[in-house]
Parts: sequence; C-alpha cells; structure tokens
Amino acid sequence: MSSSVQQRLDHLRHELERHNRLYYVEAKPVISDQEYDRLMRELIDLESQHPELVTPDSPSQRIGGEPIEGFATVEHARRMMSIDNTYNEGELRAFDERVRKALPDEKIQYVLEPKIDGVAVSLRYEKGLLVQASTRGDGRRGDDITNNVRTIGTVPLRLHAGDDIAAIVEIRGEIYMPNAEFERINQQRQTDGEALFANPRNSTAGTLKLLDSRIVATRRLRFVAHGLGEVQPMAVDSYRKWIEMIGRWGIPVPEQISHASTIEQVLAGIEAFAEIRGTLAYQTDGMVVKVDSFRQRDLLGATSKAPRWVIAFKYPAEQMQTRLLDVRWQVGKGGNLTPVADLEPVFIAGSTVRRASLHNIEQIRRLDIHLGDMVVVEKAGEVIPYIVRAIADHRPKQAAAIVPPTTCPSCGAPVEKEPDTPYIRCVNPACPDQLKERLRWFCARNQMDIENLGEKLIDQLVDRGLVKTFADIYRLREEDLVELDRMAQKSAANVIDAIQTSRNRPLDRLLAALGIRHVGNRVAYVLAAHFGSLDALKEATADQLSAVHEIGPVIADSVHDFFHNSAGLETIRRLQSAGIDPTFSAPSAAGAGPLAGQTIVVTGTLSQFDRHQIEQLIITHGGKASASVSKKTSFVLAGENAGSKLDKARELGVPILSESQFLERIK
Ligand SMILES: [Zn+2]
Repeated sequence: MSSSVQQRLDHLRHELERHNRLYYVEAKPVISDQEYDRLMRELIDLESQHPELVTPDSPSQRIGGEPIEGFATVEHARRMMSIDNTYNEGELRAFDERVRKALPDEKIQYVLEPKIDGVAVSLRYEKGLLVQASTRGDGRRGDDITNNVRTIGTVPLRLHAGDDIAAIVEIRGEIYMPNAEFERINQQRQTDGEALFANPRNSTAGTLKLLDSRIVATRRLRFVAHGLGEVQPMAVDSYRKWIEMIGRWGIPVPEQISHASTIEQVLAGIEAFAEIRGTLAYQTDGMVVKVDSFRQRDLLGATSKAPRWVIAFKYPAEQMQTRLLDVRWQVGKGGNLTPVADLEPVFIAGSTVRRASLHNIEQIRRLDIHLGDMVVVEKAGEVIPYIVRAIADHRPKQAAAIVPPTTCPSCGAPVEKEPDTPYIRCVNPACPDQLKERLRWFCARNQMDIENLGEKLIDQLVDRGLVKTFADIYRLREEDLVELDRMAQKSAANVIDAIQTSRNRPLDRLLAALGIRHVGNRVAYVLAAHFGSLDALKEATADQLSAVHEIGPVIADSVHDFFHNSAGLETIRRLQSAGIDPTFSAPSAAGAGPLAGQTIVVTGTLSQFDRHQIEQLIITHGGKASASVSKKTSFVLAGENAGSKLDKARELGVPILSESQFLERIK
C-alpha cells in the first residue's frame, strides 16, 4: 500500500516538475493549465493523507502556504554588494583602464549581460536542495523570503542531479516580472480599485514583501542568475564556466550573454543590445560588464561599496512620441491647480503611460504645446513621466492653445493667481477636490497611516457628504461604510479597525497630517518635540515659533496662521472633541531605561495595548522592538493566541513574559 502511494507521489512530482520546466523555462507547455491543476490537486490530496511523505522539494510547496507574521533576518555568508553605475562612455573607458593598470601584462576577458530591472536575491542550496532565499537588504543582512521564492516557477526546488553539484551553493540573481504579467496585474488592480504599480520592478518588490505566499504564487515572477555567493567546493574558475555549470543544474541564466576582450568590443556590445532590448519580454535598464576570471576578480578586490571588477552601463531614459489628447487641471490639497496631460496610451520603460504632469502654465508656454500635438514623453527611473517637447511640424491645423481656467474645475469658485509665481489656486475652503486630496494626505502612510482608507473610499465618503473634516473620519461607523459600493461587512470592519488604531499616532504624525503649508514630517517632528501638544502650539507666538532651531520665519508664519485662523482652529477643535489630542513622548536616550539594550518580540493580542502602543512603550523604556525571534532576542512578550513566534522562542530557549510580568519589569 504505502509503497504504491510513494510510487504515485514520485510520479506526480516528477510530472509536475517536468511540466513546470516546459512551461517556464522552455516556454513549450504540452498540457493545458487545467490538466496541470488536476495533477497538482491529486498531489496535494495525497500529501494531505500522508503528511509524513511531504518533502521540501515537492511541487506542492510552490502554491504557497499560510501567511507569516513577518520576515526573519538572514545574515549573508558573503556580502551582497551593489555595483557602480555609469551613463557615459568616458567612465566606461576609465573603468577598463583601471582594470588593466591593476593587472599589468594580463589578458582581460569581459562578460556582458543585460541589467534586468528587478530585485536582487540570494538562493542557497545545500546538497542540491533549496534551503533559503533572501533579499540583499543592507548587503550584510536581508529578509528571509524563502516561502515566497518557492512559488516562483523558474527557481528549481532541487538542483538537477549530477555528480558536480557542490555541497553548498549560493546563487545570486534577479527576481523580475515580465512586461505581460505586469500589465495583467495592473489591469486587475484597476478593476479592483487598488493603486497601480509604477513599473515591473516596483511590482516585483511589492510582491516579494507580501506575507502571504499564496498571493505571490498567483503573480508569475521569474528568476535569472547573475552571480554567486558562498560555494563549496568551487569547481570552476570563471564566470563563463559558472553560468554553464548552473545552467546544467536547472538554474535560469541570462539569454543575452556575450564576451569581449577590448573596450571597443564592450562598447559595440552595448550598442548592439540597445537595438534589441525594447523587443524583450522584460525590462532592462543597461548592461553589466564583468571581468570573467575569478582569480582576476580576487586580485581587483572591492571598495567599501562595490567590487572593482564590475560596472553597469545604464542607457539614458527612454523617450516615446504620443498624442496629447487633453489637459485637465487637477486640484491639489492646498488648492493649487496643476495641469495634467491626458495622452494617447504609450508603452515606455516598462509601463503604459496615459498621463504626464505639465507643472504649470509657464511650462506649457515654454514648450509651446497645443491640444492635439504629437509630443515627446520621457520617463527616467521612478520619476513621473513628463513632456519634453512638442513636435510643431506635425501640429494639426485647428490645434487649440491651452489656457488656464478662470474657475475651479471641482467647485466652480473663481481661481486666484499667486503673485510672482506661475501658479493658480482655488481658495474655496469647501472645495470637494481639495478636501479629497487633504484627506488622502491625512490617511497616507507617513501621516496617520490609516491603511484601509484608500483613494476610492475617500472619494465616496466626500461625495456622499459623510466626511467633511478630518474629525469626521473618527465618527464613521461600520453601518455608514456597508452602504457604499463594493464594501463588504468584513472590509468595513477592517476600515474601522484601521481608523481606531490611528488614534494613537503621536503628535508629530498628526501635525504632518494636517497639511499645514511648509510643514512636512521633519518640521512636524521638530515642532512636536519643542511644544509637546496642540494647545501649546495654539499659544505660541510667531516669534516663539521662529526661535525654534530649524524653524524659519516662513514656516513660523504659516504655522502661526494655521493656529490663529478660524478654519484651522475649527479643525483642531473638532479633532480634540473626537478624542484626537496626542502629546509628544520623546524616545529615551539609548542605553537608558529598564529595557536598555534589550531586543523584544511581541506576539499575540495584548489586553491593554495595540501593536503600535506596545512598541512605543518598549522604545520609551530604552528597548528595541523586533519582528522576528532569534537567539539574540532578550525576551518574547506573549499575549492571547500567540502563534509560531512563541514556538520559536521555546525552541531557542528565549524567555517568555506575560503582559503583567512585562509591566512589572518596566515599573
Ligand atoms: Zn475648488
């Protein structure tokens, strides 16, 4: 019986891995997705009846598991360094000269490969089995993302059998998202009313940070190798041979790899790749040039930041032509009207661009842009796309000039021009678009951080008159929310929870959230630390404000004005009467307090504190709050329903304290 089960398991695993490889690596699937799913279901059923027969390299591990609470920290056996970048030929030549000077009379072989725009990771295999995957982090320590990486179809869970597999192999490479998958996910997110990812790299990074590996499994990420960490024993002496070897082991290696022995050949390779990179199924932003020989690499060594044997040449930002369809004037949170170009959709550097900022009317005049013009759009890295110029030769005959509005497109109130600037503003304090922008800012991560209160929801709340001021957020009830479009009871409860949690944000976060002109997070922190409460800020004169270090007269006037005009005072009064009136509690100096030098992990639900409050309490008593349990953890504070972290603490012999024992300790 049991041997026939084992035989069936072996067969299913073998078949699933074979089809996985045909699908992802060779792009020649021979069975349908349904057939694949059927085999997978049979495997999972069989494994759930025989849990003792589950192996870490079973394809069932690719579908993801239960969500985890946070990522453990991994120490890299060898540092994961970043590499130097350049945009120009001169620096590339200088790199070559430095290499040749350091290695006189030696032949130099370079390897060129595309610089794929993704997230760098390290995969560790022991005896051929994938045991750990981690992010670069700060180069010495990264996050353990093994659960997420297991779901990536191109990452072998076990290296292909062969005599030459090293006992320990760390493969460094890039996880990335193909363009088609990026488009698919963004379309889905648009339908679901979720924020769109800016580009495939952004989307890859966001996906790898998910704590639920089952969601990661649904986003078809890819992996490609581009380096190595610890390898024991090491059987090859050059990168070229390394790539050949790991390719045999089943690791995906770069498709477009080439070799060069002179700098002229390197430059020719870079030029040739520029022609084809737009046709690839994934985003690349340059070419990496590496010395091939490992012995020469050792001789060249590294600076404190980057190895001396490698450099990345990055192509200049991509530009594309498209048509300007319309210009809309978007109302910002302070009432500024910003012209935004609506463009005929165009694919640039990994994403579809539909809009571009035009900044202000001066910019439009300077570029001489008319409606209906063909324009050149540029995108560099994560920067918002912008219009570089209009192609005046192709201007349609009746192309209209762009004129700034005289009334606000949101509320219809007259627009005012700011003296001595090209900016125009809507000064109606009740303008709905301004309110929406102010609420978005208030709820955003660096301010009150109300996680589930997003853009679409804010629009609905304002449109229905449910929220007119910040304080109204704190009066919302679950029944108000379930009335709204697409809002299930459960999500309504999540929103209310997130709102309640945000009640405990410290004074500096609230001050930044108010959207006072010139008061960003840094200034808010300085003000909070100096004055300590909203009431104290109300009392402060402009002179007292500008006497504070880092607060200049312009900021002082703006803050003084906010706390002395009727709208500002009304905002504060309403917040205070809704119970939002935080004070500033200074973190105690490092090395002071009963928890000085201790690292504490909190798990489970506490009766008196939420997660943010307890972390603040730990910090104010000199301790450090950490997300994962290790041997270095001083103790674990365990509440109700504590899960895997408690088990881990027991396993490692880390002391465990109850809530009351903890309070006793900091008395
Ligand atoms: Zn308005």
